Amino acid sequence: EPVDLVEIAVAAADGFQAARSDHPFTLEVEPSSLPLVGDPMRLRQVLDNLLTNAAVHTDPGTPVTLRLRAEPGWAVAEIADGGPGISPENQAKVFDRFYRVDDSRTRGSGGTGLGLSVVHSLVTAHGGAVSLQSQPGATVFTVRLPLSAGQV
Ligand code: ATP
Ligand code: MG
Repeated sequence: EPVDLVEIAVAAADGFQAARSDHPFTLEVEPSSLPLVGDPMRLRQVLDNLLTNAAVHTDPGTPVTLRLRAEPGWAVAEIADGGPGISPENQAKVFDRFYRVDDSRTRGSGGTGLGLSVVHSLVTAHGGAVSLQSQPGATVFTVRLPLSAGQV
């Protein structure tokens, strides 16, 4: 029984906007549905963890965007923010368990450093992949998940 990543993302977007009204938020959804085989609660957790990071590791007022699109065979979700970014050195480490960037902004946010390792595990368990592009002012986490058979 496929689940629809569009439905999951719309719910995650609603939750984000309710909880994080200090961040301008945009949801950009091109396809009407993205059917996947997977656990909807865990896919929601993937989006929630990435959206929460985009809010708590940036200043209030920093724009956050959730984009969904289809590539042949794949559902693609991008979580983007206009925050300070993650240095190239730290980009290699942020998916490690308990790794947190050692700066005042991260220390103040009080997390455990598990969120991205959970994202990586859950996306991999669904047959997908997560990647990161970041520079000051533009950070994008890209999640690719296989569309269910017969969908393109
Ligand atoms: P947790 O998610 O367990 O509550 P956390 O957010 O600190 O804690 P991760 O989600 O694993 O842990 O993120 C690891 C580190 O990567 C963060 O501590 C932060 O330094 C950095 N980071 C993650 N997302 C962003 C982002 N969007 N912008 C800037 N830094 C980020
Ligand atoms: Mg986190």
